[in-house]
Formats: sequence, C-alpha cells, structure tokens
Amino acid sequence: MPDYNCVIKRIHALNSLYTKFEKLGSAAGWPIYGITISKNDTLPKIMILGGIHGDEPAGVEACLTFCNLNHQNWLSTFQFHIIPCLNPYGYIHNTRNNKQDIDINWAFSSKNLPEIQALCKFINDQKYKAIISLHEDWESYGYYMYEYRKGIAAIGQRILKKVAEVCPINLDREIDGVSATNGLVDELDLEKRTQIRGLGIPIALFQYHTDRFVTTETPTSLSMSCRIEAQVTAIQAMIKNHVS
Ligand SMILES: [Zn+2]
Repeated sequence: MPDYNCVIKRIHALNSLYTKFEKLGSAAGWPIYGITISKNDTLPKIMILGGIHGDEPAGVEACLTFCNLNHQNWLSTFQFHIIPCLNPYGYIHNTRNNKQDIDINWAFSSKNLPEIQALCKFINDQKYKAIISLHEDWESYGYYMYEYRKGIAAIGQRILKKVAEVCPINLDREIDGVSATNGLVDELDLEKRTQIRGLGIPIALFQYHTDRFVTTETPTSLSMSCRIEAQVTAIQAMIKNHVS
C-alpha cells in the first residue's frame, strides 16, 4: 500500500528559502498540500498537478522530484505552484477515484468535494503561463500527451521529442478514441468532451486560468524510475519552451 505519510514527510522536508508548502484542505482525513517555489511574487506562474488519479503514483513522485531540483536558473523567470497529490485517499488505496468513488479529474463542478475545494483555494483567481497535469495510462505502451492552447504556438511535439530520449512514445494514429500524431493529441472538441465526461479539471482550468494546459500520460507498464524521468523531462521541457 503506498505510504502517504512518507509523502507528507517529504513535503515537510522541502521548506527552504524559496520553497514553501501549505495545507489546502483535507480529504478522507488526509491533508492536501500546495507547494510554492518562488523568489519574486510578481513573476508569471507555472502550475504542476500530480496524483489526481490515485492509482497513478509516478506523477506524485515526479512532482516531489521536481521540487528537489535546483531551480536557480528558472526562479528569475517563473514561480511554480505544485500540488503533488490532489487525491490522497486514492493514492493510499491505489484507486483512480476518491473516497466517494468520484473521478475528481472530471468533477470540477462538484464544489462540495474536498479535493476540488483544495484545488480552487490554491488557484483562486490566478492566471498561469502554463499548467501541466501528470497522469498514467495502464493500457498505453508509450508516453503521450494532450495539449490545449489558445492564441499561442504549440510546444507539444518539442516536449515529446525530449521525453523520447528517456521513454518510448505511443505512436498510434489514434489514442483513446482521438486522432494523435507522434504521441500528441491536440485536436480535441472540448465542448463535446465536456458533454460526455462533465466539466473536467483540464477544461475548466484551460478556460479560466491558462492559455496552455498539458496532460501527460506515462505507460504504467514501464518501471517507476523511467516514468518519473519521463514526467520530470516533460516538466523541464515545458518550462524551457516558455522562456522567451
Ligand atoms: Zn489519470
């Protein structure tokens, strides 16, 4: 059983000059944390989300790995907002859904859910330069990602090119029922998706809080170390592609 106490300990150990954490709320008795890495609170922000689905632990690990990197080069350009594990109950019980058996990734409208409340508390009315949400796929043999963007150039293929150096890419022409190119799904009908699945975190945050929302998916069949490296590589590539 995954040890969330260990995650809590690692978050508490992060406190430093530029890295702060706060408890955003709790779900099923477990705290949900938001981490801010910032040297200058006027800089643009990038958000990183992990552990929305409890049975996708590599995203949680990737968030914590990212928090422990040397950020000096980036902190004169960006601030980072990170929620390493939005669904602690799912993480502990290795389930996709939360304690109420709800898929929180597609339940943004359910404002009574503690996980959604925690997310909204952290985001408030902020605008992000980009948001990346880290996921895993049990059925995919390779890494793939979704990129939603408005009025800005695509960077998905550049991110995938870097990830390809450390992890196989899913090269299918269709992924999860949607057409894909070299692991990138970017032609989504968001209205239709909302009708089918409900208002998701990706769509809600893309509509109101960022011009770029990226969802990444590691193949769960690969080793944990490979999946973490793939996600950290994607986060870094995304940051680098926003440095103008
Ligand atoms: Zn997921």
